[in-house]
Amino acid sequence: MDNKVKEFMARIIAKNPGELEFHQAVEEVAESLIPYIEENPRYKVAKILERIAEPERVIIFRVPWMDDKGEVQISRGYRVEMNSAIGPYKGGLRFHPTVNLGILKFLAFEQVLKNSLTTLPMGGGKGGSDFDPKGKSDNEVMSFCQSFMTELCKHIGPDTDIPAGDIGVGGREIGFLFGQYKRIRNEFTGVLTGKAIEWGGSLIRPEATGYGQVYFAKEMLKTRGDSFKGKIVTVSGSGNVAQFATQKVTEFGGKVVTLSDSAGYIYDPEGIDAEKLAYVMELKNVKRGRIKEYAAKYGCTYVDGKRPWEVKCDIALPSATQNEINGDDAKMLLDNGCYCVSEGANMPSTPEAITAYQNAKILFGPGKAANAGGVATSGLEMSQNSLRLSWTREEVDQKLHQIMIDIHENCVKYGKDGDYIDYVKGANIGGFVKVADAMMAQGVV
Ligand code: NDP
Repeated sequence: MDNKVKEFMARIIAKNPGELEFHQAVEEVAESLIPYIEENPRYKVAKILERIAEPERVIIFRVPWMDDKGEVQISRGYRVEMNSAIGPYKGGLRFHPTVNLGILKFLAFEQVLKNSLTTLPMGGGKGGSDFDPKGKSDNEVMSFCQSFMTELCKHIGPDTDIPAGDIGVGGREIGFLFGQYKRIRNEFTGVLTGKAIEWGGSLIRPEATGYGQVYFAKEMLKTRGDSFKGKIVTVSGSGNVAQFATQKVTEFGGKVVTLSDSAGYIYDPEGIDAEKLAYVMELKNVKRGRIKEYAAKYGCTYVDGKRPWEVKCDIALPSATQNEINGDDAKMLLDNGCYCVSEGANMPSTPEAITAYQNAKILFGPGKAANAGGVATSGLEMSQNSLRLSWTREEVDQKLHQIMIDIHENCVKYGKDGDYIDYVKGANIGGFVKVADAMMAQGVV
């Protein structure tokens, strides 16, 4: 590691002890940005890198709620308002037992650069709770969401901070949260995105992250005169992002052969076609079952306790969670001939995995670029709410597709190094410049 990066990281670690994922995310960005800042000293003088690594505001609150047995439960709620230089804070809410401050700060930090890359005027934030919706009744989830929003509503608003979904927060949770916000504030506004279409949602928002991830991969493949046609694709996760990534790959002529959840993965060499995907959607979104049940229904392999990276593929689409591909997994992917990784999840590849991709010079789209389609379409949902209009499916999809093409171009602009495109560097610098310039213009705030 470069000495300047080392010194910078020593200060970050001392100031944010124990927040390992936050350190990891900041270090990856610092490695790209510190050399760039050395060449552009105005950012150094203004200490922009130090400033963007410090949240503007963090709110931590108690979330008491009652379970079905009448027992009081206490969860912890968070909202990290990271940076509002180019627009109101924007970023999802995650409900998962692993949630802690360090994880939300890593996600909020990534979100700032990602939102900037979308070309839309959105700052960055992230929030959530250690509440686990898995295994809870609808009534318990509602009780929790209402308590969570009773506090959160004091800190958010359509021109201040606009949360959305993430792991564990889908249409059901957004509905309960929106209902409680409206009831307390007596306002029908676009304060949350990911709403259902009947009450202010946007067509294509549910599809956007997975579709965008595949559009980004398509652009990367194009730089080598290649496409999805006839390719074997491994996908991890089986939630929102994984489902729509699978749909788009199939539409583009590729074959998705794996899906997973936190318990294990399924391998279906025949491919997960539209009919099988409809089964997965019902299983995961309605019945809230486990991916193992797919293997029983379609008579294919289920591998307990493992991730799908040992399966031979051309293209990998990690779409579950952070650090789900380590150095050994990356080596396995490369040894099996994988030459394109497009991240739907946030930071699914460890630093060792990223180094392995870079050394092998494969196509690698980091999450902050490749999964930005979700928040971009949230931005489009906000525009429609402000206009009090709804655009058609085709209009939104066409805008999403164009945004992913523009993000790809921006990454090429800052990441091209001879024949090789370093998308990590491209995304980090491309996202940084706009935020940094806005912060400089707004003074020391
Ligand atoms: P969902 O909750 O819909 O699905 C998450 C999937 O990942 C589930 O299959 C879940 O399995 C699995 N998973 C979660 N945690 C773990 C874990 N610790 N180990 C293994 N598997 C795990 O979430 P999304 O699809 O919305 O989000 C997936 C990823 O995409 C996240 O990293 C999120 O931050 C990122 N993302 C999402 C966006 C969106 O618009 N939704 C936008 C941009 C990024 P199980 O059911 O067993 O928990």
